[in-house]
Amino acid sequence: METSFTNSYQESTLTSLLKRSIKAKQHSHSPYSKFRVGAALLTDTGEIIDGCNVENASYGLTICAERTALVKAVSMGFKKFPAIAISSDTEKFIAPCGDCRQVIAEFGLDCDVYLVKSDLSYKKLSVSELLPMTFTSEDLERAKLKK
Ligand SMILES: [Zn+2]
Repeated sequence: METSFTNSYQESTLTSLLKRSIKAKQHSHSPYSKFRVGAALLTDTGEIIDGCNVENASYGLTICAERTALVKAVSMGFKKFPAIAISSDTEKFIAPCGDCRQVIAEFGLDCDVYLVKSDLSYKKLSVSELLPMTFTSEDLERAKLKK
């Protein structure tokens, strides 16, 4: 397991974050895929906001666990997230989908992303590794400056 952090938080906080991502799966609404996903988001004030995937009969309106956690956290007033952890029931590490990568990037490219297995083993990635050449608000600012 890796022990160096991009952002400042304790090893015990990371352990709590990993565990919360696993626990968050319990509320998954996944009657169609049976693919439970849990996410846990660490805020800059040390709180952990969790989320699960919420499927919909229309399929297209399904919301991933990562975005559930992010939307919950933002609506609670949080905007800075040093880390997010994501887990599922598979034996493999699962990574955020493209939509979620972009939404995580919206709140900072320095968020540590932990892919978590049920035995608490994890793989740590940066947002830039997950989403190279990211489109961000800075691109919009650059476009405005040119006018
Ligand atoms: Zn997603």
